[in-house]
Amino acid sequence: MLPASVIEELRRIVGRESVIDSANDLHIFERDASIEGALPDAVVLAATTAQVSAVIKVAAKHHIPVVPRGAGTGLSGGAVTIRGGIALQVTRMRRIIEIDTVAQTALVEPGVVNQELSLAAASHGLFYAPDPSSQKACTIGGNAAENSGGPHCLYYGVTTNHVLGMEVVLADGSVHWVSGDSPDRIGLDLCGVLVGSEGTLCAITKIKVRLLRIPPSVATLLAAFPTIETASHAVSAIIARGIVPAALEMMDRVTVGAVEAHYRAGYPTDAGAVLLVEVDGIAESTRELMSAVREVLAENEGYAMREAQTPAERDLLWAGRKGAIGALGRIKPNYYLHDGVVPRSRLPQVLSAVGEIGEHYKLPVANVFHAGDGNLHPNILFDLRDRDVLPQVEGAGEEMLRAVVELGGALSGEHGIGLEKSAFMPWVFTPDDLDAMQRVKRALDVDGLLNPGKIFPDPSRKHVHLAGRTGLAVEAKWW
Ligand SMILES: Cc1cc2nc3c(=O)[nH]c(=O)nc-3n(C[C@H](O)[C@H](O)[C@H](O)COP(=O)(O)OP(=O)(O)OC[C@H]3O[C@@H](n4cnc5c(N)ncnc54)[C@H](O)[C@@H]3O)c2cc1C
Repeated sequence: MLPASVIEELRRIVGRESVIDSANDLHIFERDASIEGALPDAVVLAATTAQVSAVIKVAAKHHIPVVPRGAGTGLSGGAVTIRGGIALQVTRMRRIIEIDTVAQTALVEPGVVNQELSLAAASHGLFYAPDPSSQKACTIGGNAAENSGGPHCLYYGVTTNHVLGMEVVLADGSVHWVSGDSPDRIGLDLCGVLVGSEGTLCAITKIKVRLLRIPPSVATLLAAFPTIETASHAVSAIIARGIVPAALEMMDRVTVGAVEAHYRAGYPTDAGAVLLVEVDGIAESTRELMSAVREVLAENEGYAMREAQTPAERDLLWAGRKGAIGALGRIKPNYYLHDGVVPRSRLPQVLSAVGEIGEHYKLPVANVFHAGDGNLHPNILFDLRDRDVLPQVEGAGEEMLRAVVELGGALSGEHGIGLEKSAFMPWVFTPDDLDAMQRVKRALDVDGLLNPGKIFPDPSRKHVHLAGRTGLAVEAKWW
């Protein structure tokens, strides 16, 4: 609990109703979409940059941790207040301030929901390219903090490639603009440092993003494969042929079964895996590209190829893919999802390893992922009510990440390191490399109050399982 005087100070900044400190209400902000949770001491609902700055100044004065929070869809525990303190919710800052159709840019507040931006831009013939599968809920601020990807990031690039500049509040409450409009970033590329910093270096209060013209033509194809390995070979073969589709997504048999039961999108449930391939551009090149894609898929055992004939059919195919994780709830109520990334050519090996690890731990695993990027998403399915299952789930997840790293991969392709992968950072970075990152953290956040306990390994923390749900033991409270 925060002292009553601090709660009063916060209320004076944002208004009485916009500070939550009752135990029941705080539970709503205990988690994101990962498996770990911890209660904040207070939630502050900020509506302006000035409020964000004033709240952070109060926190700095009293030495209270602050965790910026968007929609809470993060999958690595980034928004979990592991050291208590203030969850600084920015979803009331949801204005699309400007869409500049000539410059093809948008200036938005951090709480704007990803899909709302593309819907608003569509009336000008424009769209915002990074499209996480959670785009109906997640915020542009969360996307910038996580450097999020999405199905169409294979061709268009991830969030950092689309952020031109940001207004940010640093740990001392000071407000700054980083970068701007110019194609080349002048001076130190602070925007590059802050995008993907997972709330550990700043709170983002405005974002200027690039918009793209909606391509005149798009073709979307679903293809079945006998096994996940044959589908993986087809992915490498497409890229090796010099084709970079707009999207190249894979789902395995377990996922297809759940998706089809839910969406009835015509996914082939007898297949070992399916690929969803999309190409776009001017009509002639789209036709040419799709015919080349079909050829490569057929050479690699692809069958039952079905191209969407109408926008409604395309939407249904994508609804299946983007709703896949939710559909897995038909199999088990809980999932644990990692997003390690490997060189594309290693997909067959890493997917076999993932399958073997699932079998070893007797846990069902469903794979649905951005195959073109080599970005795995093994969903370990379980039921949290089974009290003995969590150590198994965590053990399986850790082994899967080990396999990724041993095959030359990285810990995360888009979900960030957050809480859940911080302990594994020494697998991929030397102590010197980690120290260089921590020096940047210390320079911008001297007292370590912005989203503490994330990204960097914390020797004082160990995983524990409390009464059937995961919690974390922190040896020292923050004050
Ligand atoms: C079903 C499902 C599918 C998903 N698919 C994808 C996908 O395809 N690609 C992908 O990349 N991710 C995906 N995600 C993960 C998640 O949606 C993204 O990481 C998203 O960017 C998080 O946004 P959010 O608003 O929910 O942020 P939150 O979960 O609230 O926060 C995430 C992190 O960002 C920080 N943060 C949030 N807002 C700010 C701010 N204004 N300033 C500074 N820091 C901030 C938080 O401190 C935290 O560390 C998926 C999640 C789900 C549940």
